[in-house]
Amino acid sequence: MHPLLELKNISASTGEKTILDELSLSIGEGETHAIMGPNGAGKSTLASVLAGHPDYEVDKGEILFAGKDLLSMDPADRAHAGLFMSFQYPIELPGITNREFLEKALQEKQKYLEKKPLEKEALEALLEERLKEMNISSAFLDRGVNVGFSGGEKKKNELLQMALLQPKLAILDETDSGLDVDALKLIGQRIHEIKGSCSLIIITHYAKLLELIQPDHVHVMMEGKIVRSGSKDLAKEIEELGYAVEVS
Ligand code: ADP
Ligand code: MG
Repeated sequence: MHPLLELKNISASTGEKTILDELSLSIGEGETHAIMGPNGAGKSTLASVLAGHPDYEVDKGEILFAGKDLLSMDPADRAHAGLFMSFQYPIELPGITNREFLEKALQEKQKYLEKKPLEKEALEALLEERLKEMNISSAFLDRGVNVGFSGGEKKKNELLQMALLQPKLAILDETDSGLDVDALKLIGQRIHEIKGSCSLIIITHYAKLLELIQPDHVHVMMEGKIVRSGSKDLAKEIEELGYAVEVS
């Protein structure tokens, strides 16, 4: 069986600067992979290239997602095909409530799948169910998207979006940045619960989140390449010894 996501020798640049340098990575269905690496290694760029961000040019290589050529798809089609992105800094959308935003996202997905729009009652029931699972009060739906949300609430909101959209692959970029210990624990536990139901790429600096999530694979990225791959013990080792350790 083919992996869900396969990057083959991807080089990507912005302007003159090459950021990803012949990077290869395979993610199987239901697998959780962590990507660690120092600042500037190209981790967020990798996420942006997968999302189809127009700032980045893919100069070389191929990306297959669920057997399709991802690079030929526009960002909206990538999302509809089951790719979900959680960004390091979620945007605020004043004037649009969370309910409106989530309903729109769900109906667009129906449209893409050539299914009938969801009835109002079915939509409400689905929203209620997911809120309950995640222990979120329904007042959360009536607030503007991310407006005045704490770091933890923004991340919780993204996980709610994810639970509703049920992507095949979710990429979480520095989901732990700006979280206090309690929020980190909550988000980590929630991701641990989701783990296995879809494939996950967790980009993080810190081993703490990974202790909670227990990823199947850990990769170290440096200068646009994956330089080491291993089990979750690799995260622990990096926390103790740093990135600049020789491969023994
Ligand atoms: P990481 O997420 O691992 O910290 P990034 O992917 O954000 O790294 O950045 C990798 C390198 O590419 C950095 O040197 C950064 O300055 C550069 N870079 C990323 N995006 C852009 C951009 N839009 N324009 C110019 N340089 C960029
Ligand atoms: Mg980054």
